[in-house]
Amino acid sequence: MEANEQYKEIFENLNDGVYYVDRDRRITFWNKGAERISGFSSDEVINTHCYDNVLMHTNDEGTQLCMSGCPLLNSIQTNHINVASVYLLHKAGYRVPVSVRTVPIVENGEVFGAVEIFQVQHERMESLYNMQELKTLALTDQLTGLPNRRYTETFLASRISEYKALGINFGVLFMDIDHFKLFNDQYGHGVGDDVLRILAKTFTSNLRNSDFIGRWGGEEFIGICVCPDEDSLRQVAEKIRILAEKTSIPYADQSLSVSISIGATLYQTDETAEQVVQRADNLLYMSKTSGRNCVTLG
Ligand code: GH3
Ligand code: MG
Ligand code: MG
Repeated sequence: MEANEQYKEIFENLNDGVYYVDRDRRITFWNKGAERISGFSSDEVINTHCYDNVLMHTNDEGTQLCMSGCPLLNSIQTNHINVASVYLLHKAGYRVPVSVRTVPIVENGEVFGAVEIFQVQHERMESLYNMQELKTLALTDQLTGLPNRRYTETFLASRISEYKALGINFGVLFMDIDHFKLFNDQYGHGVGDDVLRILAKTFTSNLRNSDFIGRWGGEEFIGICVCPDEDSLRQVAEKIRILAEKTSIPYADQSLSVSISIGATLYQTDETAEQVVQRADNLLYMSKTSGRNCVTLG
């Protein structure tokens, strides 16, 4: 235990998030890095269980890991170190990609807990656009901070030029929130605005450097992703759909969720920006008619 106290002091000053759990996965220590990355203060989480309602790690498929597949639990049960890439739920509701390492805490041959060390996967963070610069050029949308329609159109035009000059394949995703009118009617326009803001944060937190998402208007977003083929485009689209579904919007003492439908298509030689966007929009419509919360590729 004494050695542990020493480690705690070191961990307190690390930039990474660090927390300890006991054998029942009750959180006993939560450092400043964990506060910064998750938005939860140590007071809010100490003595809760890591499966209660904080973090709620999911994997790429959107599967919640708390009950099965929890790397911490595995470390406790098997006395092994685990490394995983997961998405934690920030206190504000958006999803953050983190890499985690879980290490069993062993004393006298007995495992009596585990420590998790986690970092934000920075290469995916707020990638290619410098938000501040765009703001001063009136290219960001005021509500969400995302690139606005004008900037999205310009970005698409530059991807098309790149394709012509260098042959770099890319895809266009047309995304639209499902039954958003109903959502606004039920919870109010202000909560609807929260949805747009928090979803935008999930998007920007999870973009790869080569990807772009802008607000096209209303509850519609356009993604532009460098993708060699349809399979990789589908993977990107599915990931975004799942992360949107797993985003959580605070409302009184509840948390609400929405889903999005997506139309996804690869850019074809010689077509105009309007044509590729129109095709993505038609595919989106097919996702809507086939039940929503899905991706249609074409
Ligand atoms: P569907 O699943 O078919 O897309 O249904 P929907 O209700 O989402 O589609 P519809 O186009 O009928 O409604 C879009 C709604 O989006 C209506 C509008 O009030 C809402 N909306 C658009 N922009 C904003 C905004 O900036 N804030 C809020 N809160 N709501 C918005
Ligand atoms: Mg719409
Ligand atoms: Mg909609």
